[in-house]
Amino acid sequence: MDYQLIRSKRKTLSLQINQDAQLVVRSPNKLPIAEINKFIEQKSSWIDSKIRACSNKQINKPKYQQDEKFLYLGSSYPLDINPEKTSKLGFDGASFASNAASKQLFLDWYKAKFIQIALPRLNYYAQKNQLNYQQVRFKSQKTLWGSCSSSNNINLNYLLIRAPIAIIDYVIVHELAHIKHKNHSQNFWDFVMQMLPDYKASKRWLQDNGHKLQNL
Ligand SMILES: [Zn+2]
Repeated sequence: MDYQLIRSKRKTLSLQINQDAQLVVRSPNKLPIAEINKFIEQKSSWIDSKIRACSNKQINKPKYQQDEKFLYLGSSYPLDINPEKTSKLGFDGASFASNAASKQLFLDWYKAKFIQIALPRLNYYAQKNQLNYQQVRFKSQKTLWGSCSSSNNINLNYLLIRAPIAIIDYVIVHELAHIKHKNHSQNFWDFVMQMLPDYKASKRWLQDNGHKLQNL
């Protein structure tokens, strides 16, 4: 098995699969190669499964090609690359269309759509429950769906526009609830439940499917 070996003053061996699906071995300076190879041998099934998972992720990255499907509000729609269209991304309710597509084009479209759809919902839930936020920002983040700062500035991840509307509502309500409760105590969850009685299904959906929203 090919691997990249990095020796240092460390005391133990460690294995890691990098973003290119390659094995990186970190080893103490003087550990013999035979020992390193033995360790790799012992961990081979773990290594195999990690490499497989990593290459699947790479293969599944969109290529922005004709008929490739893209998520919007929980459904998938095909992309039509049509030379007669403009360079802007269009959506007619059944498919996306552009004369050329790219990740950035989709990000821009998703962000604009998210603001258009989520902002009125944020304001609806805020007013209904007398929760006044300072400012709202829309970002795409790898690890976070939303946040609410100590001064009640809210961040929402616009990639949520790829999820069903119930999921967007859940993240909005979750962050608004932090205006009242700056923690995840029982009181916090009771308050979320009061605003959104079936929030639990959405919370679970996000845990199970969130990674799909990030795949762009
Ligand atoms: Zn929270």
